[in-house]
Amino acid sequence: MSAQQNNGLEVQHLHKHYLLGERNIPVLKGLDVSVEKGEIVVIMGPSGSGKTTLLNCISGIDIPDKGKVTIGGNPINLNSPHERTLLRRHHIGIVFQFFNLIPTLTVKENIGLPFIIAQRKDRDAESRIESIIDTVGLMRRKSHYPYQLSGGEMQLVSIARALVHAPDLLLADEPTGNVNPNIGRSIMDILRNTTKQKNTSVLMVTHNPEHAAWADRICFLKDGIIQAQHQQYGDISSVLPIHEKLLALGI
Ligand code: ADP
Ligand code: MG
Repeated sequence: MSAQQNNGLEVQHLHKHYLLGERNIPVLKGLDVSVEKGEIVVIMGPSGSGKTTLLNCISGIDIPDKGKVTIGGNPINLNSPHERTLLRRHHIGIVFQFFNLIPTLTVKENIGLPFIIAQRKDRDAESRIESIIDTVGLMRRKSHYPYQLSGGEMQLVSIARALVHAPDLLLADEPTGNVNPNIGRSIMDILRNTTKQKNTSVLMVTHNPEHAAWADRICFLKDGIIQAQHQQYGDISSVLPIHEKLLALGI
């Protein structure tokens, strides 16, 4: 689908290499991927295949060598730090694998951070913060500090923080990688329910086929490009075909 039609995310011909001393390490080699508005797409790929690099190039945490990123129909000027910062503040929510919470702020303060950073005076900020805390089930923890939480609860805080300003695009890097399987499952439920409700586009990395099964589509990343895609129904019945595909691709 062309960038004009897709008002979710469109990534075209993305290239990114790193230099390690004298060595040139090509990571992304002309990668294309798209996410429709309201669609949940999972990226699966071997460790070191460039999944985090891809998310970082989309969010502007990292700068690709070349390629095009279009969000909500607007091409992003990847060379403008200011534009990329504004994009992150207003249009993107990010969930990191290691939570990245601020230890000196409470649950509620961590979740309200996007409004403070963006200097947004949304009249309904307070009610949106309360509502998302309720959605992730942390009402009884809202005055706690991160060190008083379990890993799963910390990840729920970071998910609430990524969603509180109703981003157009949610990027999630192995959000269930460091939590126990039960919490992982409820994280996937919350992610799916809230993003479907708000018509948010989601691009998520996971190694877990059971969690990937809740996506609408899976893209398999290997050798710098998307090697294959797997359209599915957004339920657990897709687990077996995902395992088969991972085996066939040697992921
Ligand atoms: P994945 O998330 O799929 O495990 P990454 O995107 O983190 O993979 O990394 C892809 C490759 O790029 C790896 O070989 C990694 O070592 C390398 N890499 C990532 N970030 C840097 C960096 N800042 N400098 C040098 N090499 C990097
Ligand atoms: Mg990674």
